[in-house]
Amino acid sequence: MKIYLDNAATTPLSKEVLDEMMPFLTEHFGNPSAIHSFGRTTRSAIEKARKQVAKALHCSPSEIFFTSSGTEANNMAIKRSVEDLGVTHIITSPIEHHCVSHTVEYVEKASGVKVHILKVSEKGEMDFNHLSTLLEELQSEKVLVTLMHANNEIGTMLNLEKLAEICNKENVILHTDTVQTIGHSPIDLQKIQVNFLSGSGHKLHGPKGIGFIYINGKASINAFIHGGSQERNMRAGTENLYGIVGLGKAIESATEHFEAHRNHILDLKKYMMMCLEENFQDIRYNGDTSDHSLYTVLNVSFPPSEKNEMLLMNLDIAGIAASGGSACTSGADAGSHVLNAIKADPNRKGIRFSFSHMNTREEIDLVIEKLKSMVAVKELV
Ligand code: PLP
Repeated sequence: MKIYLDNAATTPLSKEVLDEMMPFLTEHFGNPSAIHSFGRTTRSAIEKARKQVAKALHCSPSEIFFTSSGTEANNMAIKRSVEDLGVTHIITSPIEHHCVSHTVEYVEKASGVKVHILKVSEKGEMDFNHLSTLLEELQSEKVLVTLMHANNEIGTMLNLEKLAEICNKENVILHTDTVQTIGHSPIDLQKIQVNFLSGSGHKLHGPKGIGFIYINGKASINAFIHGGSQERNMRAGTENLYGIVGLGKAIESATEHFEAHRNHILDLKKYMMMCLEENFQDIRYNGDTSDHSLYTVLNVSFPPSEKNEMLLMNLDIAGIAASGGSACTSGADAGSHVLNAIKADPNRKGIRFSFSHMNTREEIDLVIEKLKSMVAVKELV
């Protein structure tokens, strides 16, 4: 039996999303830019998906643009802010996903933008006092703040409402990477003012290779990919029709079942924490595990042991999928930039277990059983 606890890396496609996509993989194949009936059918499916995304975020469909991924959406927000909005300073954090941090490094080199790295606590919380100080110092500059809503490795979340309040007061451009939180944490863009926000289909039981960017109607930026007039001239290329349809359904479904799924996943996470602490020696966690954190992620810090280097592999051999970091860094020798930034003890082993509503308590029981031969169990007294 295989157990999948790597849902922060990607999630399985849900049946209802597949059902919604299927007609667009088969009989409805028209090019959405064509004016005949084949094209009109697929065009209207794309516009329906745009409305589904906009409804979930409480924004206008005209503010949603489909992209190939969360990565592309983040690239677009950062690169276009620098090129089109005259940004000269970027404030970001040391725990952003590489698609943000490497893009920031790129624009720093290419355009000479000055980059300021925000302090984070040992739990990965953003230091808002430091942010206010930086913004005060940069008052006469054009600033982009790019901070992730929730961290994919350790689950620590920032208070988006408070961040937006600080940024709006200082009149800076705000971009937030919400790839891990879309569908897991309701976002009301009528109440929270951001300039750019990004999402990805495959983190919420939608398809891979599809993402979106929210661009606030007031932010006037140019095309990211040049060519045809797709995505209202912002992102050329024939649309990933079935991906878009799947993303629309996935976000609608996640919003509809939000409460039930959250309660189920939160129960699994707490249950796993309880079982770990009951059965094993010196269990700790990397990042925030409070109710303010992202409930889909649990980064367990196992005590130093010779067997630690083999832990992920042994879990895999036992049929359990977890992760040592984000999907793109697991297996890399350099270790996690996130764990380094929060000064996690390098002698301990951080393993990220991440859940979806499809997981069960029985699966957690099995993981605990399997772990008993891999990490130090508690002595019975
Ligand atoms: N941002 C965060 C926080 C992520 O976790 C990921 C995926 O791991 C991405 C961005 C990239 O999204 P995508 O896989 O759609 O490119």
